[in-house]
Amino acid sequence: MLKLENVQSGYGNILAVKGISLEVNQGEIITLIGANGAGKSTTLMTISGIVRCRSGKISFNGKEIQDLETDVIVKMGVCQVPEGRHIFPQLTVRENLDMGAFLRNDKVAIKKDIDYVFSLFPILAERRNQTGGTLSGGEQQMLAMSRSLMARPQLLLLDEPSMGLAPLIIKQIFEIIAKIKKESNTTIFLVEQNANQALQVADRGYVIENGKITTSGSAESLLANEEVQKAYLGI
Ligand code: ATP
Repeated sequence: MLKLENVQSGYGNILAVKGISLEVNQGEIITLIGANGAGKSTTLMTISGIVRCRSGKISFNGKEIQDLETDVIVKMGVCQVPEGRHIFPQLTVRENLDMGAFLRNDKVAIKKDIDYVFSLFPILAERRNQTGGTLSGGEQQMLAMSRSLMARPQLLLLDEPSMGLAPLIIKQIFEIIAKIKKESNTTIFLVEQNANQALQVADRGYVIENGKITTSGSAESLLANEEVQKAYLGI
């Protein structure tokens, strides 16, 4: 579904992604794990067209997207949940969800999808008339994920959904990620510093260090890999 071939991107004189190649197949959860500043967010933003791809190729469903604008990439079915959530703080939960469905006009299906995200995150249903800015960090993460789901993406890009959340909430978020894959057949590309949790839900993973992929394999093989254990799993 998604293929990166030797992709480079960065900021000004800084090259943050230094020739990355990876693949995400339909129906998979793929995780990209790595330390602070390794280039995870830049990789996601390059896929979304927020950061320009300087060289290499990105294809989505067989079509090259590296030169397309972000809105076109979203319309094609790729949706990113950014690090730090970036929900609309002045809008209510319900209005945030409506914003996620901005490009759609199938009212009946939109209503059905709102019911679906409320079933995934019942707390959001309770808080539907509350403004986004008054939600807890975990609830804002749930809202950011739900808002993206309202666009009915084929590929959901999640940037560090566990960041800054309490262990119990992190557990819930990862359970929902697994559920989204199972129930809605959405393909998920998950960027995480929390390698342990990410590899528990993922089918396969890639390790990024200093802008380059250093290791890849099935989630089980990465969990069993001694170097990954030492560097990322605290074992
Ligand atoms: P984190 O978990 O901290 O978000 P990351 O793996 O997502 O880390 P990136 O945010 O992609 O890493 O950063 C990769 C490199 O690019 C780092 O050296 C970072 O300092 C640099 N960088 C990121 N954003 C910018 C920016 N807007 N301008 C300049 N350099 C940046």
